[in-house]
Amino acid sequence: MASLTIRNLRKSFGVVEVLKGVDLEANTGEFIALVGPSGCGKSTLLAMIAGLETVTSGEIYIGDRLVNSVQPKDRDIAMVFQSYALYPTMSVKENMAFGMESRGVPKAEQEKTIARVAALLQIEPFLKRKPGQLSGGQRQRVAMGRALVRDPALFLFDEPLSNLDAKLRVDMRTEIKKLHQRIGKTTIYVTHDQVEAMTLASRIAVMHQGEVQQFADPDTVYNRPANTFVAGFMGSPS
Ligand code: ADP
Ligand code: MG
Repeated sequence: MASLTIRNLRKSFGVVEVLKGVDLEANTGEFIALVGPSGCGKSTLLAMIAGLETVTSGEIYIGDRLVNSVQPKDRDIAMVFQSYALYPTMSVKENMAFGMESRGVPKAEQEKTIARVAALLQIEPFLKRKPGQLSGGQRQRVAMGRALVRDPALFLFDEPLSNLDAKLRVDMRTEIKKLHQRIGKTTIYVTHDQVEAMTLASRIAVMHQGEVQQFADPDTVYNRPANTFVAGFMGSPS
C-alpha cells in the first residue's frame, strides 16, 4: 500500500519554477531518500509534503487522502530539520511532551510514551536538561524523539545530520537505520550525501533542477544510472 503518493507536483516562486512535475511514491514502512545538489528543490518538496509550502499544481496523497489543502497539523506527519528547532527554555522532556499536550493526550499516557521513546533513543539521562546543555548529537536525538512521540504515519527528515561532525554523522546514520528497522515507519529522508542515501534507503530519488532524474533502489541507481547526471552525482563506476 502507498503511504505517500505525489503526482505531477509543481512549485513556482513568482516566475521561477523550482519543481517541474515531480512524481514519487513511498510504500508503507519504506525508507525513501531524496538526494541531489543544493538548490535542486529537495527542501521545497519536503515542505510541500509537510504543508509548509503551498502546492502550485499537482497532487499529494498521504495514504489515500488528498492533502493539498490540509493544514500541517492535520497531516499525520512529523518533521526533523537540521537545525534542531527545539524550544530552548523547555527541558528535553517538556520538548517531547509539547505536541502531545497540545493534542490533549492524558498526562499518564504522555509519561509512558516519553519513557518508551527516551529508552529507544537512549536519552533518559538528559530528560531534565535544557537543549543548550546537550551536544549536537544529543540534540538531534531529542529532535527525533519529539517526532517519534507523535507516532505519525509519515516521517520527514531534512538533512538531519548535516550539522554534525563526520564521525557522529556515521554513528547517527547507524542509529537512524536501526530505529527505522525497529519502528518501520514510512520515511522521506532528504540528504545531499549519496553514501547516506545508499546506506539508509530502500529507494532513492535523485533530483536535479526541480526534476526527479531517477527513482529506483540503490543498486540500480548506482550501477545503472538513468543519465550522466545521476552517474556523476552518485559516483557510479563508468
Ligand atoms: P535544496 O533543499 O535542494 O537545496 P530548495 O528546495 O531549498 O533546494 O530550493 C530550491 C530552489 O527554490 C532554489 O533555487 C531556492 O533558491 C528556491 N527557493 C526556495 N524557497 C524559496 C522561496 N521561499 N522564495 C523564492 N525562492 C525559493
Ligand atoms: Mg535543503
